[in-house]
Amino acid sequence: MRVNVSSHDLKVSDHKHHLHPFTEHGALGIDERRVISRADGVWLWDTDGNRIMDGMAGLWCVNVGHGRQEIVEAVRAQMSELSYYNTFFKTTHPPVIELSQMLSDLAPEHINMVFYAGSGSEANDTILRLVRSYWALKGQPGKNVVISRKNAYHGSTMAGASLGGMGAMHSQGGLPIPDIHHIDQPYWFGEGMMTGMSEDEFGLWAARELERAIEEIGEENVAAFIAEPIQGAGGVIVPPATYWPEVKRILEARDILFVSDEVICGFGRTGEWFGSGYYDMKPDLMAIAKGLTSGYLPMGGVLVSDEIAEVLHNEGVEFFHGYTYSGHPACCAAAIANLTIIKREGLVERVRDQIGPYFQERWKALEDHPMVGQARMVGMFGALELVPDENDLKKRFDNVGKVGTITRDHSFANGLVMRAVRDSLIISPPLSITEEEIDVLIASARKTLDAAW
Ligand code: PLP
Repeated sequence: MRVNVSSHDLKVSDHKHHLHPFTEHGALGIDERRVISRADGVWLWDTDGNRIMDGMAGLWCVNVGHGRQEIVEAVRAQMSELSYYNTFFKTTHPPVIELSQMLSDLAPEHINMVFYAGSGSEANDTILRLVRSYWALKGQPGKNVVISRKNAYHGSTMAGASLGGMGAMHSQGGLPIPDIHHIDQPYWFGEGMMTGMSEDEFGLWAARELERAIEEIGEENVAAFIAEPIQGAGGVIVPPATYWPEVKRILEARDILFVSDEVICGFGRTGEWFGSGYYDMKPDLMAIAKGLTSGYLPMGGVLVSDEIAEVLHNEGVEFFHGYTYSGHPACCAAAIANLTIIKREGLVERVRDQIGPYFQERWKALEDHPMVGQARMVGMFGALELVPDENDLKKRFDNVGKVGTITRDHSFANGLVMRAVRDSLIISPPLSITEEEIDVLIASARKTLDAAW
């Protein structure tokens, strides 16, 4: 930690030497950046002395809240005992064994194996290779195509960004890689409402896009369908109630793997341990990261069904894949301590039965603001759609698409971190947030909307 350096000097140094992810560098003024230097619970402090509420749990990851000394202590103890050893070449270690047991207990019954990665992107890279290897081992190497959805987010690596359906990401670096097919998303407010279909009809239509794609590509060529139960970075797209049951029907009738990307939805965000559980889906593979360690240390992984594990278990089969930091002992210790807190404090049940419903009701009430077209929330993450189709608003913000970022900046100035996605604002606070803190959050959000209006 650099002490005795002024906040401005830190920003100058950051400007000179730090290339930020997902940032328009030329447009980021030196003093526009915020240097976050401390955090506790749902609160952040910056080097200018501001206290800001972390309405995004970092990047949707700090599920247990900041500053949990129990996790810090578990990592410290692990680091002094065994700070690193790998899990390649016939070696393993106690924390990775304990964590794998814990995850297997938390996962659906038919899932009992974990492959570790360093992030959600690496987890999805692993999944892409794994599903193709699985079909090849089963004697169907032609089953190569992975179906995903437009506007999905599955990470930033070549495979992650290709699996994702973000047009802007595909426009850079020669993406997407071959044999990935994107179908429409079940985005009612942004796309469905304009079609003249009811919400339920639109949900069925969007699900049947999967069926149409499978028919077009040929079932014999499709390896898997990958999806976030609720698209997070795409804008907290909560699908119509008809969507997942129809997808389930389509997949059950076919020999195609279902991959649930639980990187945001996992570990309590929806009020269930996993988003696929919230929608009663039965995935073959699950990508996990973020809430696995609540972001205290970087870690991702893939939860693997017994059926897939069995195919990989055959003698003579080696999956030529892994990362130096697969199952890193300190990250395992952080994950174990984090999951222990989630279980002990009943955070998942709290989201489902208590704090989630409290938050949802207050969030929904923001719909009375003239700037809000829809306020939606499942569990503890939601979006405010900022009615960019109203002529007045178009004039105020001179062009549609900037409404979100302008309002987001107002929010930051008001002491609340929200995220902008197109013309919506996203919220996803730590699951440990209190009712009083939710009241503060809602008051800040309202102030933000008034300021932007
Ligand atoms: N999958 C989903 C659903 C995500 O939201 C993210 C990140 O936001 C990722 C994958 C990629 O995870 P990471 O940033 O840890 O690589």
